[in-house]
Amino acid sequence: GGKWSDYLEIRGLHVEFDGFVAVKNLDLTVMHGDLRFLIGPNGAGKTTIIDAITGLVPATGSATFRGEQLLGRKPNEIVKLGVGRTFQTASVVEELSVLENLQIAEGFRRKTRDLFRKPGAPSQNVEYMMDVCNLTEDAHKMAGTLPHGKKQWLEIGMLLVQDAHLLLLDEPVAGMTPAEREATGQLLKRCSKNRTVIIVEHDMDFMRQFADSVTVLNQGEILAEGSVEDIQHNDEVVRIYLGG
Ligand code: ADP
Repeated sequence: GGKWSDYLEIRGLHVEFDGFVAVKNLDLTVMHGDLRFLIGPNGAGKTTIIDAITGLVPATGSATFRGEQLLGRKPNEIVKLGVGRTFQTASVVEELSVLENLQIAEGFRRKTRDLFRKPGAPSQNVEYMMDVCNLTEDAHKMAGTLPHGKKQWLEIGMLLVQDAHLLLLDEPVAGMTPAEREATGQLLKRCSKNRTVIIVEHDMDFMRQFADSVTVLNQGEILAEGSVEDIQHNDEVVRIYLGG
């Protein structure tokens, strides 16, 4: 499909855990080129939305990306539809180099058996994305020796070489230094130019600096949506989340 269909469209997404409604009939559209922040109090359902559209928890309703239904598919099928996700703790292979991690990630998109193939020379794609993620000088360092910030960039790089066009990032700047936050924001801005990016975040300064748009969740429902300005001036958002 063309770029016109490169957006995420969620309709009537509903997730229950033993009768407890974690996400309630939620509608959410995030366009191509958008850097969308998902914010709200603990337990609002932010992570559950990401879990549902990546196939980790069962959900009803609809969630399409590039016109493909994501619900009801297995996590590895969803990856192949161009959906990439990071977790709060970086899940890189610590004993392998930065380059090897990227090469494995690239192979995973193609065939699962490539996971165990000994990687040869890096592809142009891997070299390019390594540069985008500020990791070229660290190519041959063991991933486990990288500082926290660079591990997160490596994880983002692994999604980029897999050709992910919907990036779902869970608190990407948690535990980062101010310089790392700034560089991460620039990286994500760049990524979002020709992708769809959703960031679950508690760092409001980071959100103010980099968000194109914001969705505020509360008790599994959308409380407000709009620009940073819009949500900062929304009385209910201030009362429930930003105030205090
Ligand atoms: P957030 O990411 O906004 O902090 P979550 O999506 O993690 O919120 O959680 C939303 C609600 O769903 C919380 O009340 C949480 O306890 C509940 N929840 C999340 N995952 C599960 C699960 N696997 N089993 C039972 N309850 C869950």
